[in-house]
Amino acid sequence: MWSSLAASTLSSTHRGRETVISSRWFKGFTIALACGLLAFPATSAAAPGGQGYGKPSDGARSLGDPLLPQLGNGGYDAEHYRIELDYDPGANRLDSAETTMIATASQKLREFSLDFQDDLEVSSVEVDGRAAGFSAEEATPDLSDDPDVTQPMKLVVTPHPSTRPKAGREFTVEVQYAGQPQPITDPDTSIEGWINACFPFDPPQTCDGAFVVGEPMGSQSWFPSNNYPTDKATFDTLIRVPNGSTALGVGELAELTEHADGTSTWHWTEDDPTATYLTTATVGDFIFDVGSMVETSTGTTLPVYNAIDATASPAQLAAINASLARAPEQINFLSELYGPYPFDSTGAVADRAAGVGYALEVQTKPHYSGGFTSGDPSIDVGTQLHELAHQWVGNSVTLETWADIWFNEGWANWSEWYWQFLENGGDDPAAIWDDLYATTPAEDWETAPALLDGDPANLFHFFPTYQRGAMTVQGYREIVGDQTFFAFAKAIQSQFGHGNVSTAEFIAAAEEASGFTGARLELLDDYFQQWLYGETRPTIVPDDFGP
Ligand SMILES: [Zn+2]
Repeated sequence: MWSSLAASTLSSTHRGRETVISSRWFKGFTIALACGLLAFPATSAAAPGGQGYGKPSDGARSLGDPLLPQLGNGGYDAEHYRIELDYDPGANRLDSAETTMIATASQKLREFSLDFQDDLEVSSVEVDGRAAGFSAEEATPDLSDDPDVTQPMKLVVTPHPSTRPKAGREFTVEVQYAGQPQPITDPDTSIEGWINACFPFDPPQTCDGAFVVGEPMGSQSWFPSNNYPTDKATFDTLIRVPNGSTALGVGELAELTEHADGTSTWHWTEDDPTATYLTTATVGDFIFDVGSMVETSTGTTLPVYNAIDATASPAQLAAINASLARAPEQINFLSELYGPYPFDSTGAVADRAAGVGYALEVQTKPHYSGGFTSGDPSIDVGTQLHELAHQWVGNSVTLETWADIWFNEGWANWSEWYWQFLENGGDDPAAIWDDLYATTPAEDWETAPALLDGDPANLFHFFPTYQRGAMTVQGYREIVGDQTFFAFAKAIQSQFGHGNVSTAEFIAAAEEASGFTGARLELLDDYFQQWLYGETRPTIVPDDFGP
């Protein structure tokens, strides 16, 4: 994600030390609670009667995230989603919708939950083809004291006793629903999820559909899922819209079917593992183009799906096309850095969605929302590099918990520093590092990237997540030298690609790659502890490691 607003609101969103202390207590409590929940099914599985055939138990309604314990569900692992939407862009309404999740149970389930807001009306839930009980429940604990922040919800499913999922067995959940999806307001007051794509910010507005982005939790505004980054799955996204509207999903366009009633179904398929926060179902009046590019590290030809808001002025269109024309060279720059492009297609969505103000690295199709007030569509070429870098760092190698967000954003931001320097007349990353280390005010160092004061409102806080994250990467580069560093940049892709990495796993991999031993290795470990977990300006700098 990249927001030009984040940098400008940095000082106003800084949290005081009192908040730090209280939120630490809060965090400790939620972790203990989640562990308690997770311990329950383990006991059950060991009961007489064999694993999965003993007494059924309830799946946990949390995966114990340090910042967002409201998200994720235990007791099963999602493998595939088929999402079918019948969408009316004029009314911004899902006339009908059906999401089918194929999952494997890890315990015998009397009850389990999915992450799903209750703005949409669920008409039926079936488990393995048999009607199941269901209810909407608030996730716990409360996400925020601010009444404008959306409280995450759960769809709790109680299968008929004859179709209770059994440990190790695959099962299918089919949810039918309809209504008007609502955007989600995050703890930092930004919006995400199903956003009616309108401009300008102040009425009267013109609207043409939906700008659909989901970091960290927006996907639960439009389809039920296990909405947590570690439960990646493959996706079929089928969206029926009036002819003339363009509908977009993750992955490749498998089929475009015209119906007799003046509507068409856009069927997108993504067969690489995809985190739910990287999905989309954006619909609008777009100039839609299917092209191709050659990924030079493998010689693979990739389809390129570009969608530009149809109301773009000739000047806006020319500027967007100038940025898009550089995307293939940027992808090849990144594939030299990180290894082969991890997915089977690429593209971009330049929409006109006022009130959003950020870009998001939607898998295979980075989304650009346009100006916050005007909605004017644009793609900054540096931001484009950032979102394309996320396809490797973020989308293929994905954070393990939301407290690891510095990994996604630190690497993407560093990638942009590096590209700007080599290809676009920017400063040397080493000089950026020196400048930030010398000039960043003391209070900005008080938020540790891998802790974020335990406050989800700090997830996209510019200095700790983006700048200090990138400094940690650049500092490591200076410590180990370019040869080791660039081999490591590729190694994390081969080691963690199409999966997840925690901060601890990252540090362990970086230390191993360094080849350091003894006191030098201890100093490197202290370096990472200070830079990622320290709540003051780190004292260990690359110069401490000698030439
Ligand atoms: Zn980003």
